[in-house]
Amino acid sequence: MRQIILATGNAHKAQEFQGLFAGTELEICAASVCGGMPDVEETGKTFVANAKLKAMALRELAPKDAWVLADDSGLSVDFLRGGPGVYSARYAGCDATDADNVEKLLWVMRGVPMAQRAARFRCALCLIDEVGELRVFEGHCEGHILEAPRGDAGFGYDPVFQPLGYSESFGELGEEVKSRLSHRAKAIEALQSWLPV
Ligand code: IMP
Repeated sequence: MRQIILATGNAHKAQEFQGLFAGTELEICAASVCGGMPDVEETGKTFVANAKLKAMALRELAPKDAWVLADDSGLSVDFLRGGPGVYSARYAGCDATDADNVEKLLWVMRGVPMAQRAARFRCALCLIDEVGELRVFEGHCEGHILEAPRGDAGFGYDPVFQPLGYSESFGELGEEVKSRLSHRAKAIEALQSWLPV
């Protein structure tokens, strides 16, 4: 079984990835197996650029024969011309909590009619193999921004994001449904269909 070291210190994300790779030939290990995820300044202007920065930083620390995988993701809202985008985690400030970010988003979008609340989660994955070759895979999940939070499953903007074709938010739908629909699931599908069998 191929081990892939995941470039995140976020336990929730590591758990979500382990679930998404369950049943495959890949074993996802947390960055703690090589001393933890180094601090990386996410200075990229795109999700792809930030995923590359994180993967390259972990590559320096990982065992040479390991593969490393980094993701960068966030919410892109049409009304905000693609924002908060790469600033999703710090939308309401550097120390913002998920609740602060959601509150700011709902405030900024107050009164905006449903027809103009289209949004999507985006995910970029950057995989670096044992010879240092780098590959990028992307996924997205379309939906729209609700007017108030609903449900408490997931994290981040899940309670205010309603995926296309559903009448519940990700916060209400829970992990099982999200693991089929999400931007991360789609990016992982792209990675899996590339994987040599
Ligand atoms: P990261 O930089 O990829 O860790 O994610 C940036 C931010 O995007 C997170 O802090 C969340 O606010 C938001 N985000 C990314 N993926 C999701 C998701 O699946 N649900 C809700 N929010 C998300």
